[in-house]
Amino acid sequence: MKKINMVDLANQYKPIANKIHDAINNIIENTSFINGPSVSSFQKNLESYLEVKHVIPCANGTDALQVALMSLDLEPGDEIITVDFTFASTVEVIALLNLTPILVDVDPDTFNININSLESAITKKSKVIIPVHLFGQVANMEEVMRLAKKHNLSIIEDTAQAIGANYKFDDGTKKKAGTIGNIGTTSFFPSKNLGAYGDGGAIFTNDDSLAIKIRGIVNHGMYKRYHHDIVGINSRLDSIQAAILDIKLKYLDDYNHSRKKSALKYTNLLKNHPNIITPFIAGDEDSHVFHQYTLILKDCVRDDLVEYLNLNKIPCGIYYPIPLHKQKAYQNKRFNEDDFTTTNLLSKSVISLPMHTELDDDQIEFICKKINFFFNGLK
Ligand SMILES: *Cc1c(COP(=O)(O)O)cnc(C)c1O
Repeated sequence: MKKINMVDLANQYKPIANKIHDAINNIIENTSFINGPSVSSFQKNLESYLEVKHVIPCANGTDALQVALMSLDLEPGDEIITVDFTFASTVEVIALLNLTPILVDVDPDTFNININSLESAITKKSKVIIPVHLFGQVANMEEVMRLAKKHNLSIIEDTAQAIGANYKFDDGTKKKAGTIGNIGTTSFFPSKNLGAYGDGGAIFTNDDSLAIKIRGIVNHGMYKRYHHDIVGINSRLDSIQAAILDIKLKYLDDYNHSRKKSALKYTNLLKNHPNIITPFIAGDEDSHVFHQYTLILKDCVRDDLVEYLNLNKIPCGIYYPIPLHKQKAYQNKRFNEDDFTTTNLLSKSVISLPMHTELDDDQIEFICKKINFFFNGLK
């Protein structure tokens, strides 16, 4: 059996190695390092893949969130509602912009924004909702959209973990994750479902005037060379990363398909176990692209399982061990422990198993066999 990795970018790269080398050599020979033709090509191809009017590439997924917020004419103190159970980028950029983060609880089954918690967090100061499509599953956008419309709020979808996922509305229409709200953001961090060989990110919108604003913001607020109309930042996707992403975009559906296949295999081998809750898919199978395969453990010491897996050379991850409201940088009297029962519970009981595009059946069978051994030993 091949060595089991948490992610396996080396084996994913092998079949596309020649294409990647040619693309990189071409950029070096043409010295088109910044804003070269590969950037506009990738932008156009991603626009047609996502069926969205505008893709604005940028330097990383955290910048994408920051730029999205900067484009919305917000005032210090405006309330931005997001989830307590996610990577820190979201709350970080809200704080950096002097806006007020309002953290809400998530659903115990999908790990995504809890609609009741969201609704009760809305006040007169609320301006934006940032749902995060965690672990690859699209949040309940039907309800998020309904609440946003009712209270006149903007939506920024954090799609860093769910690029390529499809969301089906009750009326049957389907949309790609990140193209449903006013703005979508994503990350091309190497381990993401569409990963560069370095940093990268993008912002999506169907709104023409927001797109113009966002294009200015990522480029120093500059529309005419050396004329700075608005306050911006410098956030570019470099040409080499764009060329790599343009190649990998063609395989994104295949990559997501193999993730889903592996997830199904895991679930078949681990379901019905009294100590394990396997991932719940709320919508149809297209709505989850399994950036992570995450279990909830019941009645066991998680650290013991982690140690046992490590002993058996099976890597695993804890995403995320500390809810954002408990992080030193973001603690606040506003936050009430009773409002975070699910995130508090999940942060102690989740565990993510190896998940990538190169997992084979032998590896998944071995991992599940070991997990079952571990629990049988507990009896
Ligand atoms: C990875 C990630 C980000 C940040 O992306 P970077 O490219 O690392 O800045 C933001 N949000 C979520 C949910 C992520 O998983």
